[in-house]
Amino acid sequence: MFEKILIANRGEIACRVIRTARRLGILTVAVYSDADADALHVAMADEAVHIGAAPSRESYLLGERVIAAAKQTGAQAIHPGYGFLSENADFCRACADNDIVFIGPPTGAIEAMGSKSAAKRIMEDAGVPLVPGYHGEDQSPELLRQAADDMGYPVLLKATAGGGGKGMRQVWSAKEFDEALAAAKREASSSFGDDRMLVEKYLTKPRHVEIQVFCDTHGNAVYLAERDCSVQRRHQKVIEEAPAPGMTEDLRRQMGEAAVQAARAIDYAGAGTVEFLLDEDGSFYFMEMNTRLQVEHPVTEMITGQDLVEWQLVVAAGGELPLAQDEVSIDGHAFEARIYAEDPDNDFLPATGTLTFLQPPAESENVRVDTGVLQGDEVSVFYDPMIAKLIVWDESRERALRRLARALRDYRIRGVTTNVDFLYNLATTSAFRKAELDTGFIEKHRAEIF
Ligand code: ADP
Repeated sequence: MFEKILIANRGEIACRVIRTARRLGILTVAVYSDADADALHVAMADEAVHIGAAPSRESYLLGERVIAAAKQTGAQAIHPGYGFLSENADFCRACADNDIVFIGPPTGAIEAMGSKSAAKRIMEDAGVPLVPGYHGEDQSPELLRQAADDMGYPVLLKATAGGGGKGMRQVWSAKEFDEALAAAKREASSSFGDDRMLVEKYLTKPRHVEIQVFCDTHGNAVYLAERDCSVQRRHQKVIEEAPAPGMTEDLRRQMGEAAVQAARAIDYAGAGTVEFLLDEDGSFYFMEMNTRLQVEHPVTEMITGQDLVEWQLVVAAGGELPLAQDEVSIDGHAFEARIYAEDPDNDFLPATGTLTFLQPPAESENVRVDTGVLQGDEVSVFYDPMIAKLIVWDESRERALRRLARALRDYRIRGVTTNVDFLYNLATTSAFRKAELDTGFIEKHRAEIF
């Protein structure tokens, strides 16, 4: 195992990684920007290195500074967290060039999944079911429109370089197509510097169900059940849960095996997530693979009793997966709610300010709060305004949901506008209690939630 690792991230995920490293007796190095000199992740780490100015382009996204920090402190490996450099193939390669272990998949796997269309072509060859659509190289507008006309409306235009729900447009009829394509291309171009598009059949009431996979470098691969992330706002996850309500053993095995097949197709290693759309009739379709630890990994940890960061460290250090597929078991039900500094009454505009009062619900075996801030900290304009992830577990979905509602009610935050009341209203709707989930949930129950 490593003696010292560097965490190339900030906020809750940096703190989360440090906690496991510390439990395993591994020394930790934090990196920080001007805005984060007094941040929790810096205080928690054994050492910290300043890497630049507050904007992430001048600090957390500067791979060469992060690598210099690792060399200067003698860190043997770098954990990238999520976001920032976590899916950056050049950074992954630079680590290898400097004899530093990147705690994540091989460069080739990141590259293979970096483009949604290339990823779909690989998965098609591997026999993984795909959403019907066009994911070719030829990008002439006539061809894209022909593909849409052929598959029938509605269709979804997606940026092949996309992420975070950006560069996506629904198109409901042929006459809207040209305008939607131009708009999606503009957005993709400004967000990702790449305006290539793929066209997919738009499923009107799908659920987002994703499979956690893990591979080691000895040829072992397992899936650790699924997460239902159907509750979304503008294609971004709001509340996640595991297991997925109504999931059968049989469907879990089918989806799990498809996910493992997907991972094997790209010689994967480490933690990955294969995202599927699950249609009302039980058909599932590959959407994309995320080659990193996901924000919502704790719900999987709660139902499997495993520490996924520990698994990542074991695999990165060359060890074998801690469990074989038939040793993976799930127990109970878990929810995660993402607590954000944002204003639900003002189109979820990110909020900034000082956390003048901060009192999360009491933590226990059933309630976990993953956070990177303390009372008195500033929520700045520079980074993602997530304050914490609230994770709860109980024996059944019903009991876990009651715990979630109580914990949200007990969450006290002052000084900054948050989405806590919105989350509480959402979690206590009767439709959510009955698990009537699909990706249009929030829109459909708008009147009750807001
Ligand atoms: P991103 O990488 O930007 O997050 P994804 O491809 O993961 O984009 O899709 C994000 C969300 O968009 C999904 O969780 C789902 O809600 C919705 N979505 C994606 N593809 C489709 C589709 N073909 N039909 C309906 N909804 C879709």
